[in-house]
Amino acid sequence: MYIIDKSECIECGFCKRICPKNSIKKAEYAYEITDTCVSCGLCAKNCPVKAITKKEE
Ligand code: SF4
Ligand code: SF4
Repeated sequence: MYIIDKSECIECGFCKRICPKNSIKKAEYAYEITDTCVSCGLCAKNCPVKAITKKEE
């Protein structure tokens, strides 16, 4: 599972567009990863401000 640091996210929406599972949605503030995430890491690798990190289980 990956999480988005909302204080870092600049709301570019790129992660939402590239997620193969469509697991990222726009939240009231910034973006959020939902529980359909399969931890492929693509969003984290491509976030321009590195706001997405892997959450230890
Ligand atoms: S790619 Fe990064 S900065 Fe852009 S919306 Fe996603 S988390 Fe926010
Ligand atoms: S890790 Fe992969 S499946 Fe999970 S939100 Fe990011 S791009 Fe989507």
